[in-house]
Amino acid sequence: MDTVFCPICGKEYKDVNMHIRKGHGLEPEEVVEEAFRTKLSPQERRQGTAQKRRVDETMARINGNARALRDTQRARMNGLRNTWRERQRDYDKVMKERISQITKK
Ligand SMILES: [Zn+2]
Repeated sequence: MDTVFCPICGKEYKDVNMHIRKGHGLEPEEVVEEAFRTKLSPQERRQGTAQKRRVDETMARINGNARALRDTQRARMNGLRNTWRERQRDYDKVMKERISQITKK
């Protein structure tokens, strides 16, 4: 299933253009202009298909960035989890040694 991130609320949608219109009451083109601080030319606004292609391309780029960010966050979380596991292992090892020293006496 191919989903695209909504640049306003960050949720994933199959039809993000429809979601922006119905969910946020905005035109996807307005959102793109707002997000990238560029104005679409009147010609681009008239050319429905070209405009839609541009919106789709921009949405795909946003989607890619969001995915990259999510992957980075996931990798960072895994790193933290591994570090925590290693610390736990070290702690367990030290505690076991201490306990064995105590029980030996
Ligand atoms: Zn949204």
